[in-house]
Amino acid sequence: MDEQKRMGRREFLGKAAVAAMMVPAVLGAGSGNIGAQGQASGDVGDKARAKIKKIAIEEHWANQELNELRIEWGKRTGYPTTVDPKAIGYSFPRTPDFEKFRIPFMDEFGIAMQVISTGSPGVQGFADAQSAVAKAKKINDAQAETIAKYPGRFAGFAGLPTQDPKAAADELERAVKQLGFKGAMIQGSTNWEYLDAEKYWVIWERAAALEVPIYLHVQEPSFDSAKVYAGHPELTGATWAWGVETGTHALRIINAGVFDAFPKATLILGHLGETLPYLLGRLDEGYVMAAKSGRKLQKRLSDYVRSNILVTTSGLYRPEALVCAISAMGEDRVLYAMDYPFVQPKDSIDCFESTPMSDEVREKISHLNAKRWLKL
Ligand code: MN
Repeated sequence: MDEQKRMGRREFLGKAAVAAMMVPAVLGAGSGNIGAQGQASGDVGDKARAKIKKIAIEEHWANQELNELRIEWGKRTGYPTTVDPKAIGYSFPRTPDFEKFRIPFMDEFGIAMQVISTGSPGVQGFADAQSAVAKAKKINDAQAETIAKYPGRFAGFAGLPTQDPKAAADELERAVKQLGFKGAMIQGSTNWEYLDAEKYWVIWERAAALEVPIYLHVQEPSFDSAKVYAGHPELTGATWAWGVETGTHALRIINAGVFDAFPKATLILGHLGETLPYLLGRLDEGYVMAAKSGRKLQKRLSDYVRSNILVTTSGLYRPEALVCAISAMGEDRVLYAMDYPFVQPKDSIDCFESTPMSDEVREKISHLNAKRWLKL
C-alpha cells in the first residue's frame, strides 16, 4: 500500500505540505538534522512520547468550589453552554485529582513540570469585586499549597480579581513575591469588559514591573456577537468563537497602546496565538487602510505580536499550524502547553514530536523557552 493510501489523502497532503516547506532558516536546518526529524510518522510511539522533556504551561486544576462557580456563572450569565458535557466527561474527574490522574499522566507523557492555573471562568467568574478579591486570595493560596506538596513538578499562574483592577495588581504582586507564582492567567473578559480599558492598565504596569507574563485564556464572546453565531451553536466554543474572541481581545490590548506604555509587558496566547501568527501581513496592511482612533502606535501591529506576545501549543495539533507559528513568531516565542485535562494528550505529543524542526528548536519549545520566560 503506498503511503498516500495508507494515510488518507487529507492527512497525506497536510504532511506533504509541511515536508515541502522545510523553511530551512526558520526551522533550524543549520543544525543539520531537520531531514531525519522531518519524516513525520504520525504515531511517534510511547517511548518517543515520553522521551523529550516537556514543561506544559496551560494546565488546569479545579476544586469543588471552582467547579460550582463554573455552573453558577453559567446560570447567572445565562450564557448558552457551548461545551457538550458528554464530550468532556473524560476531563472532570481529572481536574481536582493530582495523585490518581495528574502525576501518573505527567510521567507517562514526559511532562516534567506543569504550570498550573484554574479552569475557566476562574476568578473572572465572580459576580462582584469584593468576593472576587477575597476568593482570589483563597484560590491562589490553595494553588500554592498544591505546588509545595510536589516539589519540582509544578509552578503556577495566579488568578486575579480583575473586577477590582488595583486589587488585581496587588494580588499579582503578592502571588509572585510571596507565593512564587510565575505570572497570571486571566480568563478572558471581565463581565465582557476587556483588558485594553485604561482602568486595567494598573495590571499591565505591575506585570511589567514584576517582569511576569499575563496569559490570556479563552472565554465566551459577549452577547453582542450572538447574531453571527445564530443557528450555528457548533461554531461557538473551541470550534471558532473562543479563538476569535481571544485574538480580538489581544488586538484591542495592542491597539490601545498598552505595549507602548509598558514595553516590558508580556502577553501569552494559547492555541498557537489564536490565529494572529497566520495573519501578520494582513494586520499590517489593514492597519494602514483603517480609520484610526486618535492614538498613534509606535510600531506595526506585527511588531507588537513578535515583541510582546508568546504563544503556546495548547489545543491545536496540526504540523502546518505549528510550522506557521514558529516561522511567524520565531523559535524563542513558542512554548509547549497541552491544556490538561481537556484534550487528548496523544494528539498533542504526536504532533509536537513529529513536526519538522531541529532538535535545538524542539528543546526550546518543549521546555527551554518556558524556563527562560517564566524564570523556572
Ligand atoms: Mn485552557
